[in-house]
Amino acid sequence: MITGKNLIGYSESAKGTNTFCAFSPLNLKELDEVFTETDKAEVELAFEKADAAFKEYRLWSGSRKSSFLNKITEHLESNRKHITARAVLETGLTEARLNNEMNRTINQIKMFAALVLEGSWVEASIDRAVPDRPGTPKPDIRKMLRPLGPVVVFGASNFPLAFSVAGGDTTSALAAGNPVLVKAHPSHPGTSELVARTILAAARESDAPEGVFSMLVGKGFDSGQMMVKNPHAKAVAFTGSLAGGKALYDLAQQREEPIPVFAEMGSLNPIFVMRDKQESETSAIAGMIASSVNMGAGQFCTKPGLVIMEETPKSNDFVDYLRNEFSSMENQVMLNEGISSRYNESINYLANYSNVEILYSAKDGEKLRGRPVIAVASAQDFISNPSLQYEVFGPYTLVVRCSNKNEMKEIASSLAGQLSVTFFAGDREMADNCDLVNLLEDKTGRLIFNEVPTGLEVCSSTQHGGPFPATTDSRFTSVGTGAIKRFVRPVAYQNWPDNLLPAELRDDNPLSIWRLDDNQWHM
Ligand code: NAP
Repeated sequence: MITGKNLIGYSESAKGTNTFCAFSPLNLKELDEVFTETDKAEVELAFEKADAAFKEYRLWSGSRKSSFLNKITEHLESNRKHITARAVLETGLTEARLNNEMNRTINQIKMFAALVLEGSWVEASIDRAVPDRPGTPKPDIRKMLRPLGPVVVFGASNFPLAFSVAGGDTTSALAAGNPVLVKAHPSHPGTSELVARTILAAARESDAPEGVFSMLVGKGFDSGQMMVKNPHAKAVAFTGSLAGGKALYDLAQQREEPIPVFAEMGSLNPIFVMRDKQESETSAIAGMIASSVNMGAGQFCTKPGLVIMEETPKSNDFVDYLRNEFSSMENQVMLNEGISSRYNESINYLANYSNVEILYSAKDGEKLRGRPVIAVASAQDFISNPSLQYEVFGPYTLVVRCSNKNEMKEIASSLAGQLSVTFFAGDREMADNCDLVNLLEDKTGRLIFNEVPTGLEVCSSTQHGGPFPATTDSRFTSVGTGAIKRFVRPVAYQNWPDNLLPAELRDDNPLSIWRLDDNQWHM
C-alpha cells in the first residue's frame, strides 16, 4: 500500500506541510497518491532512531546481517509484480527492463548477504606480541574494519530499484553494520515506498532495532540537505548530477564534523576506436556503439557519450554506419520532465554550436521522448572547447575524428576523470598503443577491451568509480561487493583480552575467516 508518508523506523509520519504527486512520463499524468515532504522534526527523529539502532546493530554478527539481507530479497520477490508495475508508471521504463533490474537488485543483496556470512571482508589482521623482542617488546595488535554509523543514501532517478531504496548503496551500508536513511527520489516516490516497506518488513522479522532503516520523502533540496547536515550522519552515498553531488559534498565538508560523501556523478565513458579494428569490423562496431548509446534512452552513467576515432581511408564508412544505426533507433520515454528538458537544451546548444556538426537527429516527437542524436567534431575543436566534455544525459554521442595518434593522445590528456574508457582494437594494435592506454588508465576506474561500457557486471572485481568528476572518491566503487568498504573504518585493539575481542580477531578464529596473521594469510 502507498500512503505517501515518511517511514521513520517502524512508524509512519506526515507532519510536513508540503505535498506532491508523482508524475508519470508514460501517460503524462499526475498519479493519484499524495506524498508529504518530510520536515525538520521528522528528520531529527529518524536520525535519533538511527543513532540508537546503531548501538545494537553495529554488533550484529555476519550471519545475522546475512539473514536480514536475505529476508529483504524474499520480500522484494513476493512484491515484485506490484513494485515493478508502479515503477513502470513512475519511470516509463519497460516492465522487462524493470524485471531485469529487480533481478539485479535481488542478486546484489544476496551477494552482500554471502559476503558478510563468509566474513573475511573485514580484513582482520593480527600482529602477535613478541615480549622478548630485542630492543623494545612488540605489543599484540589486531585490526579489522568496523561500521561508521548512520548512512544517508540518495535514491537515483535512473535506477529506481538497483540504485535506489534497496540498491547497492543501502545494501552495502546495511551489510557493513550501519543504519540507513534513504532520501527517496521524487521521480519514483511510490516505488520507493513499496521497496522501503519490504526492507522494514524484513527488519521486523529479524528483530532489528527500530531505526535501522528509514525513508524520508522530499522534493527540492531541503530534505536532503537537512539529512546531510544532521550531526548523527556519518557518510553519504549519492548517484546523480555533477551539480548535485558536488553541492552535497561541499555541504558535508562544511559541517563541524566533515563526513565522507561518495558521489557518483556520471561520465563521458569515451570509446577509442583504433585503426585496424575500425577497418576490419566497421559495421559491427558501429552497431554496438549505437545500441549502447541508445539503451534505456541513454540514461545510464555508463553510456558512451564520446567516440574518438582515428582517420583511415574507411572512416567515412564508419561514420555512415553510425548515422544509419542512429536513424533506426526509436525515440524512447525519458525518466522525468527535468531530465528530458535538460537533454533538449543540451542538444539545442550543440546544434547551434558552429564547430559541431549534427550527423543525425531524430525528429522531436512526443513529449518526454528522447530523440537519438549523433554529432561530429574535429579533435582540435574538441580539445579547445571544454564544454564539449559535459555529460549529455540521454541518447546522444559525439564522434571526434583524429587525424593521427598524437591527436588521440592530446584528447586523452585533456579528458577529465571517467567511470570507464573503452578500446576497440586488435590485439597487436592494443600492444602497440601502451602509451595511450597508460595515459587513460590515469583517468578512469575501468578499462574495457572490445566490449561496450553499458551492462555493468555486479561482482567482486567490478570498479564503478573514477577520478573526479566521475566520482568524489576514486578509491572506492559504488557497484559490487567492494562498495562495502565505503562505510567502514579500521579499528585496532592493542593488548586486548582475547575473550573481549570481536570474534573475527580472537585467537581461535571461531568464524574461520581469512586473516593476515603475523604477515601470513591463514584461515
Ligand atoms: P540530481 O538532480 O543530481 O538529483 C539527485 C538527488 O539529489 C535528488 O534527490 C535531488 O533532490 C538531490 N539533490 C540534487 N542536488 C541537490 C542539492 N544541491 N542539495 C540537496 N539535494 C540535492 O539528479 P537527477 O534528478 O537524477 O537527474 C538530473 C540530472 O542528473 C540528469 O539530467 C543527468 O544529467 C544527471 N544524472 C546523471 C546520472 C549518472 O549516473 N550519470 C544519473 C542520474 C542523473 P530533488 O530531486 O528532490 O531536488
